Amino acid sequence: MEKEELIEYLKHEGFPGKILYAIEKVPREDFVPDYLQEMAYEDVALPLEAGSTISQPYTICFMLNILEPEEGQKILEIGSGSGYVLALISEITNGPTFGIEIIKSLADRSQKTLSKYKNIKVLNRDGSKGLQEEAPFDKILISAETKKMPEHLYNQLKDGGTMVVPIKNSIYKITKKENEINIKEFPGFIFVPLR
Ligand code: SAH
Repeated sequence: MEKEELIEYLKHEGFPGKILYAIEKVPREDFVPDYLQEMAYEDVALPLEAGSTISQPYTICFMLNILEPEEGQKILEIGSGSGYVLALISEITNGPTFGIEIIKSLADRSQKTLSKYKNIKVLNRDGSKGLQEEAPFDKILISAETKKMPEHLYNQLKDGGTMVVPIKNSIYKITKKENEINIKEFPGFIFVPLR
């Protein structure tokens, strides 16, 4: 598929203009390995290294759509891999954007790929406990599959904040309002496990 075809397909799937704009703006080929350049705009997950993948565009759009990133928001992605999703978020929000990636080579490479985005910071560490020193966030996106609901991260969300997390084969949207937690499940997805 060419980039235009992928965007046309995602548009047909009903994703909003601001997500399509970000897909249009960010060169996905910069985030996929050299030997997979021809596959950059296929709607599939692609291998990065050490078992990591850059997620399928459809799944990324689905998660971003329910995350609802907005102008100026402070957002954390846990499991930022190639940095592709960080770039998409940044195009939508222009806000402070943090990524945590446990594999050093991926974190290093994504820092290079993202060097023109001064608002994005990638940290190489275990992100399972979130990023307390930068909390609270408007939004937290967990990009690796977790085993159970990350309740310990609720306090890193602002009031009115949203967290999106894959657990087993579902994506969950967690919203926090006046200390009430609301959880919505969207079944039918596959992810790289969170270590
Ligand atoms: N969103 C990424 C792809 C994510 S794949 C992209 O656009 O490229 C999931 C990533 O989560 C992998 O790179 C994996 O190394 C990372 N990961 C797994 N467990 C982690 C942990 N505990 N802390 C930080 N990153 C983790």
